[in-house]
Amino acid sequence: MANISSAKMILRYYPYTIALKHTFAISNNVRTTNPAMLVELEYENIVGYGEASMPPYLGETQETAAKFLSGINLEQFKNPFELETILSYVDAAAPGNQAAKAAIDIAFHDLIGKLLNKSWVDIWGYNRENTPFTSFTIGIDTPEIVEAKVKEAAEYKILKIKLGSELDKEIVETIIKVTDRPLIGDVNQGWNDKHYAIEMIEWCAENGFKLIEQPMPKEQLDDIAWLTERSSIPIFADESVQRLSDIVKINGAFDGINVKLMKSTGLREAKKMLELAKNLGLRLMLGCMTETSCAISAASHLAPLVEWADLDGALLIENDKFSGTTIQNGKIVIQDKPGIGVKKLF
Ligand code: MG
Repeated sequence: MANISSAKMILRYYPYTIALKHTFAISNNVRTTNPAMLVELEYENIVGYGEASMPPYLGETQETAAKFLSGINLEQFKNPFELETILSYVDAAAPGNQAAKAAIDIAFHDLIGKLLNKSWVDIWGYNRENTPFTSFTIGIDTPEIVEAKVKEAAEYKILKIKLGSELDKEIVETIIKVTDRPLIGDVNQGWNDKHYAIEMIEWCAENGFKLIEQPMPKEQLDDIAWLTERSSIPIFADESVQRLSDIVKINGAFDGINVKLMKSTGLREAKKMLELAKNLGLRLMLGCMTETSCAISAASHLAPLVEWADLDGALLIENDKFSGTTIQNGKIVIQDKPGIGVKKLF
């Protein structure tokens, strides 16, 4: 047994502004940058990396993350392998703060994997070859820009189309003129009337859509259940499901769920969510926010568990601070390196 009594865990964090390659619009938000907080967890001269990505409409900021992280006292713990104990303490430190909690969770996973000299896909015992293709997201935009983005995205086998605006039909008609690739529709709660929503879902199904994500506002579960009962393609929850305890609340209203590290507080709870949802007969998607390759690489170790992956976050940014998991011919390729398999670039 290594001598762990004298070593300390040191947590460092610094704000980072992610720059997007293109202006990105979804049904309720438009942006060109995205605030993040990067975390380093040092123990015995080994550093684990983590990241909080905080799209403004979710309520966390660099200030709230700094406040949360400054209140975390890791000196009370001597052994970084006590992940359950440590992350339970972090979760209980304050309510909310899911992205800031995820940053710590990811850094611990990276550190522990490096201490063991194993990658998490191996520690968990999944087959790293068994990753799905990732979808590539096309934001809401003018027909000219949408067409250009679809052509740029030739490598990706599945396109995720942001819906939920008055441009829906125009955007979809532009896309299906230039590609016959399978489509995922993400409405981001943008349709408010269930009769309109089911009409749109069936129209999407006829035009190559394989599933629809979060068609209506997250709290309108009765309306969404009504849609799920009638829809010919699966309806997935995103905004309606944040954490493990939300899954029981939505069971029955959706066919599947989209799990994201920034909602779930990181890998530890995301894995529990995927396992519970699978056992409840829900279909599984793994998603992301606008993130660097740090958080994307972390999530990718869970990719062998899911049917659908939407891990394109790092592809959409121009100042990726990390290298790690890559996308090759549309498929997720996990690095054979310890921890979450990332390298800090600058
Ligand atoms: Mg979504």
